[in-house]
Amino acid sequence: MYPVAVGLLLLLGMAAFAYTMNNRIALIRMAKGKDWRFEKLTDRVKALFVYAFGQKRMMNRKREFWSGLWHAFIFWGFCVLSIRTVTLFGQGFDPGFHLPGFGGALGNFYNLNKDIFTVLVFGGCIYFLIRRFITMPDRISISAEGWAILFTIMSLMITEWLYDGGQIALGNHHADPLWAPVGTLAAKVITAFGWQPGTTHAVSISSYFIHLALVLGFLNFLPYGKHFHIITALPNVFMRNLKPYGALNPINLEDENITTFGIDKINEFSWKDVMDMYTCTECGRCTSQCPAYNTDKPLNPKQFLIEMKDFLVHHSDKIVNGNEEQKAEVLGQSLVPQVIDSEILWSCTTCRACEEACPVFIEYVQKIVDMRRHLVLMRGEFPAEAQATLRNIENNGNPWGIGFDERANWAKGLGVPTLAEKPEVEVLYWV
Ligand code: SF4
Ligand code: SF4
Repeated sequence: MYPVAVGLLLLLGMAAFAYTMNNRIALIRMAKGKDWRFEKLTDRVKALFVYAFGQKRMMNRKREFWSGLWHAFIFWGFCVLSIRTVTLFGQGFDPGFHLPGFGGALGNFYNLNKDIFTVLVFGGCIYFLIRRFITMPDRISISAEGWAILFTIMSLMITEWLYDGGQIALGNHHADPLWAPVGTLAAKVITAFGWQPGTTHAVSISSYFIHLALVLGFLNFLPYGKHFHIITALPNVFMRNLKPYGALNPINLEDENITTFGIDKINEFSWKDVMDMYTCTECGRCTSQCPAYNTDKPLNPKQFLIEMKDFLVHHSDKIVNGNEEQKAEVLGQSLVPQVIDSEILWSCTTCRACEEACPVFIEYVQKIVDMRRHLVLMRGEFPAEAQATLRNIENNGNPWGIGFDERANWAKGLGVPTLAEKPEVEVLYWV
């Protein structure tokens, strides 16, 4: 149809996307922490279907059900419409292009689903717009990015309808109304407007190119914000933590080759930790469940992850393309307190309520514990509350700071003999 224009668009869009992704992948490769995540493959595939494709955690809380369901419609719609996107690019080179097997009955069945999902995706965007305007749940931060993405998705659906409807109205695409209900309806609306064939053609083809440009623009925009999860959520769910619940990575205090413990610098995290940073949707479910946040402690788990991701992405150019000095400047920087205040780390109760709530299986506790380990083992820093307790244990052998000379006071008048008074004993109660 328009091979040169579509080819150029595709080339430019994919080149820009490859450049950005190269940067993001380089940041994952920079992470030094080891984390093996390829065991229990059956469980991982199962989780992928239940939690990623099935969107289970989006809908398993009663009060989140409707938002979860509409989010699921958008997600499923993206899966279905990705086939349409490939077809549309292919039709730029050959008007009759379709993916293998999609020419006959399967093509009709697909077309029906595609039409239904364009409506559901559009409906989902309307739902989330209304939610942002009217209900505004506390856990959600309203951002320009959110608006931009919703309007882009809606524009994608509108241009799809205009292109498809225009082609049906012009007779270029012979669609059975049963298998193409939305396209047929769009064609009827266009016909009802009384447009000349030239106008219909111009609107349809403009919509086609706007649609393709929006797809590529959308793709390129994703790695720069929270909607990167559209790309990273599936692998992140697949790589979820399958260790026994609550288990932490042990530290080997016996290994004399280890020169540092815990995590202090951004590149000491593992590749999975960086994936977590990329995957956060900023939905705030973790924060809404966090007992520390809900009792006015300085910890906000969502914000904790955002701060580290912002630090990483902000310095990505220096890390990936910088000279040795620039790299060292970023990778030598301690995260505490420059990026995360130690009080935030000490506020965590390690209850994992955040991890239970997270729809994309982001892990918090190991990160927080690793950062605490560094503070304690390498810097000798403890939370203010623990400092007095530890000093008391060190000085007096008990956490309350009771002096040695007062240890036996509790037994006064009870007739309990001390070891000094009665050295031969069968049972010794040591206090
Ligand atoms: S593990 Fe820590 S961050 Fe997560 S919910 Fe519990 S207190 Fe909050
Ligand atoms: S960590 Fe998970 S629950 Fe928390 S904001 Fe990000 S995606 Fe939502």
